[in-house]
Amino acid sequence: MDKKVLIADQINEKGIDELTDIAEVVSNFTISKEELLDVIKDFDAIIVRSRTKVTREVIEASKKLKIIARAGVGVDNVDVQAATERGVMVINAPESTSITVAEHTMGLILALSRKIAIADSSVKQGKWEKGRFMGIELNGKTLGVIGMGRIGSQVVTRSKAFGMETFVYDPYITEKTALELGVTVVDLETLIKKSDVMTIHVPLTNETKHLISKEQFEMMKENAFIVNCARGGIINEDDLYEALSTNKIRGAGLDVFENEPPKDSPLLGRENVVLTPHIAASTSEAQRDAAIIVANEIKKVFKGQSPRNVINMPVLDTETLSTIKPYFELIEKIGKFMIQTAKGNINEIDVTYCGELSEFPKHDILTRMILQEVLNPILNEPVNLVNATSVAENRGIIVTEGKRCDAKGFKSLIKVEMKSDNNDVSLEGIFTQKPKIVMINGYKVDVETEGTMLICKYKDKPGTIGAVGTKIGEHNINIAKMQVGRKELGGEAVMVLKVDQHVPESLISDIKKLEDVHDAVSVNL
Ligand code: NAD
Repeated sequence: MDKKVLIADQINEKGIDELTDIAEVVSNFTISKEELLDVIKDFDAIIVRSRTKVTREVIEASKKLKIIARAGVGVDNVDVQAATERGVMVINAPESTSITVAEHTMGLILALSRKIAIADSSVKQGKWEKGRFMGIELNGKTLGVIGMGRIGSQVVTRSKAFGMETFVYDPYITEKTALELGVTVVDLETLIKKSDVMTIHVPLTNETKHLISKEQFEMMKENAFIVNCARGGIINEDDLYEALSTNKIRGAGLDVFENEPPKDSPLLGRENVVLTPHIAASTSEAQRDAAIIVANEIKKVFKGQSPRNVINMPVLDTETLSTIKPYFELIEKIGKFMIQTAKGNINEIDVTYCGELSEFPKHDILTRMILQEVLNPILNEPVNLVNATSVAENRGIIVTEGKRCDAKGFKSLIKVEMKSDNNDVSLEGIFTQKPKIVMINGYKVDVETEGTMLICKYKDKPGTIGAVGTKIGEHNINIAKMQVGRKELGGEAVMVLKVDQHVPESLISDIKKLEDVHDAVSVNL
């Protein structure tokens, strides 16, 4: 066997067994830093958990290393940047913990509804306070699931066994997935108002940071529970504390915290909370599955197939890189624009390469880059050049590519059309010295892709632009540049305003209320 795999941390035997027919496997679960530096040059792949640090030094000492596999989820112990620079794939097993985390979530829900944790501590103190721990049944109660990815869907399945009615808030899932799981998809406000139990399964992003704060606690049912096994920071803990102490809600179950460990948090002193130390993913089965998953990924790479869970980007060859590099920034900006203007679940993305770019054979890479930009802000798993297409496919997004010789007088032009549940967005961009957007939804513009923009669709009639400008002024926001595009006099037109400050939701909503304004959205590039 010409391939060699080093297993540097103890992983489940089943993972090791998967590899023995395809590679020479060397297990050294106590390998030191020095030994690792010495032997790494002989190996094609290394499997680690969290003990072994795969540093830049280790990666640079390797000669034929192709894969660094983390039998788990987090890759904090791997220098991903150094691996990417050397063209070494870093793979992990994000799906290995889904069932485990879903079960922990159900555990916290049960602990809250039946007061298990405080009852346990009371019995251990020698008490027998039967009257104190009156619980509630889950049967017939409403469960609100925020985020229906890998873990959220497992929670949904389990909640049905408890006879719960389940509602989901996830603007990015397909109708097909919702139908398959038999859940009703609602907006966040409806979910909050309906839920007896609310559970969070979204990644921590700019959009989800403090997603549940004072305003949301105000909307919750008086006797509701909230559970977070996702990431600290999605719930505003100060607001949670206030909601709990004023009996605005009945209780909370947390496995994750804004600061871990939550040393001085006032939440520690409350009876109506159940807290665990970020252990939702810790089971032996999850570890076994992680080992099997990464072993199979390594096998795929050795057989020349594409692995699914690659978390870094492969290094492109110099020729490919020099041809497409100028378009990277344009692609990045188009992707960012698209995801900020999409309304609801994305169904279709069509990319057309025009002009000289249509002759370039490796469009696929650019299309993957667009998918990466569009999907990364909404998914927990890192989306990269290697896995972008399969992630899109798994989410039911139809991706098509086309070519056109005519680039409307430009050397090259990229057109991207995205269809979502509630809107279609179409952009055309070029790159001369800088990336530029030259068409938005069929309206000709000439927009530099930087800073904050406010885009309004309106009826082309005297006074509308002025009214929008006045509203912006009332919010103390300065307009740096403005452009309008229209197809015909008096028809629908688009206005693109570059502004110097962040655009608050209240301004968008004020503008949308103006007569003759059909839509308004802000985009931060
Ligand atoms: P996933 O990527 O499979 O699913 C995330 C889902 O959230 C997607 O369906 C996405 O559409 C949705 N989403 C994204 N932004 C949203 C928004 N603004 N509003 C509503 N929905 C949104 O991720 P996963 O593997 O199911 O993980 C979910 C969470 O659990 C992540 O935060 C992850 O870090 C966390 N996690 C925690 C532990 C633990 O030990 N406690 C272990 C594993 C995962």
